Amino acid sequence: MHEGPLNLRCRCGLLQGHVDARQAFARATCYCSDCQAFARFLGRHSDTLDAQGGTQIIAALPRAVEFTAGSDRLSCKSLSDKGMFRWYASCCHTAIGNTPRDRSLPYVGLIHTCLPGEAASLDESLGPVKVALNTGSALAPVGAAPIATLFGIARIMSQVVKARLTGKHKDNPFFVPASNAPAREPRVLSPAERKRLDAAPGDQKL
Ligand SMILES: [Zn+2]
Ligand SMILES: [Zn+2]
Repeated sequence: MHEGPLNLRCRCGLLQGHVDARQAFARATCYCSDCQAFARFLGRHSDTLDAQGGTQIIAALPRAVEFTAGSDRLSCKSLSDKGMFRWYASCCHTAIGNTPRDRSLPYVGLIHTCLPGEAASLDESLGPVKVALNTGSALAPVGAAPIATLFGIARIMSQVVKARLTGKHKDNPFFVPASNAPAREPRVLSPAERKRLDAAPGDQKL
């Protein structure tokens, strides 16, 4: 188990913080078209997505995350009026993570781009990435490990439920304290804006 916090940092370094590795509980790669669209929206698909269009995610409790500098750069988008809150650093468009709209679900899917240089620590505390989500919308075939994925999802769900039962969902830096309002007003993309972010022919060669 990796000891000590993981360093969270946007590409330009204005937004900084740390993540308690003990409250991160799984790694996964998500191939869904919304995660791909978010990377394209940020103009960062080449460093956020892998060759098959996957986004590497570190599932954690929101309370694991603490911002220590530049938190005014934290910004929020949503790809639709029901979509997840998608957080990023406005200074350099680094993807930070995704949270549900309902604060009572204590989950953040941190995006690997905000933990540069922590791959070895993540290997140590969580093992390699084996869980593949939404492979149907991958840009190229993904060698999925269905059993690992099933166990991975079960592990994420059980940690979320456990945190909820023990009141640990109350600390959440992505929401206004003691409210269900996000810490930043999200900008919701229009259906036309969302559609423009779909994979274009040629994106396979990211
Ligand atoms: Zn930045
Ligand atoms: Zn996704």
